[in-house]
Amino acid sequence: MEPSTSTRRRFTINDFEIGRPLGKGKFGNVYLARLKENHFIVALKVLFKSQIEKEGLEHQLRREVEIQAHLQHPNILRLYNYFYDKRRVYLILEYAPRGELYKELQRMQRLNEQRTATIIEEVALALTYCHEKKVIHRDIKPENLLLGLMGEVKIADFGWSVHTPSLRRKTMCGTLDYLSPEVIEGRTYDEKVDLWCVGVLCYELLVGQPPFESSTHSETYKRILKVDLKFPESVPLGAQDLISKLLRYNPSERLNLAETLKHPWVREHSRRVLPPVAQVVS
Ligand code: ATP
Ligand code: MG
Repeated sequence: MEPSTSTRRRFTINDFEIGRPLGKGKFGNVYLARLKENHFIVALKVLFKSQIEKEGLEHQLRREVEIQAHLQHPNILRLYNYFYDKRRVYLILEYAPRGELYKELQRMQRLNEQRTATIIEEVALALTYCHEKKVIHRDIKPENLLLGLMGEVKIADFGWSVHTPSLRRKTMCGTLDYLSPEVIEGRTYDEKVDLWCVGVLCYELLVGQPPFESSTHSETYKRILKVDLKFPESVPLGAQDLISKLLRYNPSERLNLAETLKHPWVREHSRRVLPPVAQVVS
């Protein structure tokens, strides 16, 4: 299933048995599916061309596919391949059996130090890999983090998010909670936006709510720009130290990924295990 342009294999929908729906996206649905020839399990994301064209997102989609197809990391959702017919585009994705981190957080209210530190380490390692390849994710948040068999994080939704920031929450409850000051102010930004998001994520996982949550958009913007950060007493001091060093207005003052990975609170509490190497299909 190598996506390299000249030699990649052409699939069709007839190569798959389609199973239950895994979720609905804005442009189509995602299904559990199995490759007939060898029973390899995947998630098949089906997008309708008409809807993508209506919104003028062909370019965006092409970029998402191009980016994600070239990333191979245990904490990044694999995009194995894609194909299309007259009306639809199909993305063949790695199946994330434990679903969305967002749902785990809703179920648990908040996560403990061990679970949170492990997720932060996984996200930081995946982002290190992305940044080395000059890819900035820009939209790290629990809705875009899926979970593998062992509960390990798989970053999803690449590039797509650039044009559709916080689509899910905007429609669901209207939050802009993961936007960094430089994104709000429309300044040029770099890979440091991802470090801001890691700080917001760490806070939300431990507390159950993101740090700058407010009842109106303009209040959220204000609190982000002031970096109006307060911790409930339940947040361990080590985590407070890490979060305060990530949530800096000035991007160049934020901890970088290597420093995040070396941070004493992360080192003490993370229990990352490497999932077994994914089966290769060709
Ligand atoms: P949105 O833009 O609203 O986030 P989307 O078009 O990006 O939607 P996805 O988020 O990719 O759509 O997929 C919709 C839902 O399907 C996800 O929220 C998730 O619950 C489920 N899902 C997507 N991909 C996978 C996967 N690889 N493994 C398991 N579940 C998945
Ligand atoms: Mg999504």
